[in-house]
Amino acid sequence: MGEIIEIHEELECRTFRIGFSVTGEERIVSIDPDKQELFCSQEIRTLRPMACPFLRQDGNNKFVCSVHMSRPELCRQYFCYRILVLDTEKNRIGRVNDASRYFTTSDENLRRLWNQEIAGIPIQKEDDWEEYVEQTLTRAGYLVER
Ligand code: SF4
Repeated sequence: MGEIIEIHEELECRTFRIGFSVTGEERIVSIDPDKQELFCSQEIRTLRPMACPFLRQDGNNKFVCSVHMSRPELCRQYFCYRILVLDTEKNRIGRVNDASRYFTTSDENLRRLWNQEIAGIPIQKEDDWEEYVEQTLTRAGYLVER
């Protein structure tokens, strides 16, 4: 999501104007009151350089959205995704959750392809894995956002 959601401006303390690079839409989000301190931590930038600028890892190593209460509609519908898979009519049919390799889809063909060609592929580096996933799905005719 780091390539999709970008911070355009900090409007006031911990309130941001953000934009979706794909659609050009803008939204206003605020850091949740109970996540102010967590938001200051920048460790996620090292762990997941491509993650959404509002994703953070809490003390239990759980990934959380620091603007959960004001998160954009796109996130409300699909939660944060690392990779979104669309069919040729641009219907969203699968996703990999942000900061994970966990894949969900209800499309049988896509699930089959994932299981045959992607699940368990021994690629350690996250960027290389994402690249492999994108190439594999694109080759099969799907559209990929990441
Ligand atoms: S739900 Fe995920 S993608 Fe959306 S703002 Fe929060 S961390 Fe970012």
